[in-house]
Amino acid sequence: GRKFVVGGNWKMNGDKKQVTDIIETLKKGPLDPNVEVVIGVPAIYLAYVQSIVPPSIEVAAQNCWKVAKGAFTGEISPAMIKDIGSNWVILGHSERRTIFGEKDDLVAEKVAHALENGLKVIACIGETLEEREAGKTEEVVFRQTQALVPAIGSNWGNVVLAYEPVWAIGTGKTATPQQAQDVHASLRSWLAKNVSADVAASVRIQYGGSVTAANAKELAACADIDGFLVGGASLKPEFVDIVNATK
Ligand code: 13P
Repeated sequence: GRKFVVGGNWKMNGDKKQVTDIIETLKKGPLDPNVEVVIGVPAIYLAYVQSIVPPSIEVAAQNCWKVAKGAFTGEISPAMIKDIGSNWVILGHSERRTIFGEKDDLVAEKVAHALENGLKVIACIGETLEEREAGKTEEVVFRQTQALVPAIGSNWGNVVLAYEPVWAIGTGKTATPQQAQDVHASLRSWLAKNVSADVAASVRIQYGGSVTAANAKELAACADIDGFLVGGASLKPEFVDIVNATK
């Protein structure tokens, strides 16, 4: 089976005190030991959070650049993320794609470089409301995933896909369990056809978009939902209940 994996994407939120409080709450938990927990922290707090988390919680950067070092003002590299002891990065988040203009091929280059440097990657995909209403959901998520295939190569074991419909992010409009399950299942069939049966069966696909303690259990019960990528609720104590949604 696929181990349930819950990510918390703090986005650009928190200060030193709030960050410390969140970690204290997670330490108290209790968090289901059968669930992998990865928190996505603003770059400026990565090293601090890494120094105070228990070993059961993994820490992710929310972005990184596609080369190891050099004249790229403002950027951080996978080598730096590894250097401070973190092993994960979130790439291709819809906010990176829409606000910062990251296209499929840039996301793919970042994924390739992060994996080559030993990071595990949460790779995000998802359609906008306009695309869903135009019946293009599958076309969009397949295109976004296809762009990642050569970048991932044989490294699928270090990748988690996060399906985050853009219309569900930060809107309080969660995808219904059926809507999410349908896309996850189509993605898995697409992977079986275009990558391998093995990858299709083993890759974990998270759902993201307005996940809360109130809707997590029903979503978690879907056959092809293997975890969540949680934004707003990952800053709150209810994140503990979301982690424990399969209990
Ligand atoms: P919300 O949970 O706030 O909708 O955000 C989802 C998200 O973008 C996680 O990466």
